[in-house]
Amino acid sequence: MRKSICVLGSTGSIGVQTLKVCKNLNIKVLGLVANKNIELLEKQARIFKPKIVCVNDEKFYRQLKENLKDTSVEVVSKKEGIFKVCCLNCDIVLNAIVGVAGLLPTVFALENRKDVALANKETLVVGGEIVKKIAKENGSSILPVDSEHSAIFQCIKGNSEKEVRKIILTASGGPFFAKPLEFLENATVNDALKHPNWNMGAKITIDSATMMNKGLELIEAVHLFNKSPKDIEIVIHPQSVLHSAVEFVDGAIIGQFSKPDMKIAIQYALTYPKRVVSNIKRFSFIEQQNISFFKPDYEKFPCLKCCEEAIEKKGLFPTILNAANEKAVELFLKGKIKFLDINKAVEKALEIKHINEDLTIESIIKTDFYVKEYIHKYLEEEIMNIKK
Ligand code: NDP
Repeated sequence: MRKSICVLGSTGSIGVQTLKVCKNLNIKVLGLVANKNIELLEKQARIFKPKIVCVNDEKFYRQLKENLKDTSVEVVSKKEGIFKVCCLNCDIVLNAIVGVAGLLPTVFALENRKDVALANKETLVVGGEIVKKIAKENGSSILPVDSEHSAIFQCIKGNSEKEVRKIILTASGGPFFAKPLEFLENATVNDALKHPNWNMGAKITIDSATMMNKGLELIEAVHLFNKSPKDIEIVIHPQSVLHSAVEFVDGAIIGQFSKPDMKIAIQYALTYPKRVVSNIKRFSFIEQQNISFFKPDYEKFPCLKCCEEAIEKKGLFPTILNAANEKAVELFLKGKIKFLDINKAVEKALEIKHINEDLTIESIIKTDFYVKEYIHKYLEEEIMNIKK
């Protein structure tokens, strides 16, 4: 089992749950990273006594340094600070930063020969091929933390990838699964943030409402399990107790069940290949009133199709898709665009034809920046004007 860890995105939903798991398993926390929530970061630093804490946003650096001056914790900031955390002599780095901002930290950790427990799905969405290559070159492993991918990883264990016929990627359906399309037209931020089964950060919760999250997970699964998109079936399962399943070539299907609790997937990434006792609530088949499965509705949730298109086209298309989504979700959360405008932004971005550079970390960062500006402008001119 891992004895020491650095947690990137420690103040977020996954970060906080990771620290609970670390406390329970007695794993030493050597480094913490957040963006700007210095109040919680300071609390975490006092409880876990890491060597280094990094607040990415420079504006908060002085204040955090001042707040922690009575401790021996080193305070750092920005990209260089995150790099320093990734250089610490820990057994594993857990990356729970949200969005494409998680890409470089994953690369830093892998290049420093660290195994990475990866919650930040955007890393693999935009840079799957390159990131896997960096991991291989440095002898590092990428361990999935996303509950579906952890489930698939657990189901495949002991079998070869060739024996896998199909991956069954389950989806709760999000808050709008049972709502008609007309409801989505005027869906508010509050409506979209009411996830039925999971309590997560704002961005992924909105992604669940548009089902972009499942599309991003499809891309993530393609990279993690070396499958083509057509070998991955998305199945709506509103109770979120089957976290995904694998069908093998002989027709057997193995699935992973538990109560919806991210701490199981987090713990498995930290104890892999072993399992140790956890204190989570247990799932009971008898108590579960019903378990149902449905086909996804591609008309109501066009982001799913967009994700399939982006991964088929490969190269920088997943970056374009992801950037448009990040920008649109940011504007939706600020109340500047309507819920269905997120779909429009993503569809619009995939029409961009002139981005045809090779896939490199630099081209991903450049494209992400360009598309975010482009989509902001598009939404400002075409959508926000209409709304006024
Ligand atoms: P949250 O929004 O709750 O937390 C995000 C974390 O990232 C915060 O600690 C935030 O710091 C930090 N952060 C944001 N931007 C930066 C940056 N530029 N540099 C450094 N740190 C940054 O997100 P979640 O925990 O919900 O999700 C994290 C990732 O895990 C996402 O990729 C998501 O898709 C994935 N995931 C999440 C699940 C969940 O249950 N929440 C399930 C499966 C996957 P600050 O607080 O200071 O802003």
